[in-house]
Amino acid sequence: MLPALTLVVPCYNEEESLPITAATLAAKLEELAAKERIDASSRVLFVDDGSADGTWSIINSLSKSSRGFTGIKLSRNVGHQNALIAGLEHVTSEICISIDADLQDDVNAIDAMVEHYHDGFQVVYGVRRDRSSDSLFKRKTAKAFYSLMSKLGVESVDNHADFRLLSAKALKALLSLRETNVYLRGMVPLVGFPASSVYYDRSARFAGESKYPFRKMLALAIHGVTSLSVAPLRLIAILGLTISFFAGVLSIWVIASKLFGHPTQGWASTTLVTFFMGGVQMLALGVVGEYIGCIYLEVKRRPKYFVERTTKDENCQG
Ligand code: UDP
Ligand code: MG
Repeated sequence: MLPALTLVVPCYNEEESLPITAATLAAKLEELAAKERIDASSRVLFVDDGSADGTWSIINSLSKSSRGFTGIKLSRNVGHQNALIAGLEHVTSEICISIDADLQDDVNAIDAMVEHYHDGFQVVYGVRRDRSSDSLFKRKTAKAFYSLMSKLGVESVDNHADFRLLSAKALKALLSLRETNVYLRGMVPLVGFPASSVYYDRSARFAGESKYPFRKMLALAIHGVTSLSVAPLRLIAILGLTISFFAGVLSIWVIASKLFGHPTQGWASTTLVTFFMGGVQMLALGVVGEYIGCIYLEVKRRPKYFVERTTKDENCQG
């Protein structure tokens, strides 16, 4: 029997890109079904992440026009990662692929992903070969972030965002990680399963603007580090030890110079050390605070999203 595929598409104010995206994805599903690589019951599942524009009404009319389109509308904007989780939790098919609504990720890579699934892989990462369509700033910060993550001992796939295939088994395992701070790129390698990669060129957004300003990118990066690594806490301890060692040496020197009659002149050196220590302590407290904040959110176990309505409800009503 052929596997059914669900394409999970998070959408936040995507009214400009949705019509073309929907047509492109539906054509891809039809093509793969005609080639007998996936089942004809395969679907596109749109997640409206609290959009303020006409995104939901487009999703709704798409679902009325064809059974191939379904959608869920979240009660408010919860961010890309949580919207993705919402979509993934609604998948019932044998395989699913998450893909952005702006089609920056190459739709044609889906063919190869499905082939890898038929070859026995449970997780297939879409990896960007070329990022020349991204701004220089985005490329540089992304590179620095990936190298920081690997130095902190977090296993992740370089240049892979959230374009990936998951089998039902891998998806179930992923969703069993009940954490509140989700960073899917780091969580998928954690669950294991045979994995492979498909390489593609990332193109520019064909419509609308990026919904990932620097502030959101930074928040995602901090989430990524704090949810997967405790190395920064250890670094603080090492830093504390090193500074204490130098402070010990310094105090021996201070006592010795007092005893042997070389009065200390240095106001400058004293204040410098005070400022430096103040800075280091604030930074260390900030890092510890970041982790405590995460623990706080985790223990509350708040749901990551609420579903306001689905295309099924709408189609029943009207
Ligand atoms: N997105 C979302 N919620 C948000 C921000 C973005 O669901 O709060 C969706 C957006 O509609 C798109 C995907 O996440 O489908 C990736 O966003 P975008 O293309 O703006 O990010 P970029 O490619 O610039 O990193
Ligand atoms: Mg994009």
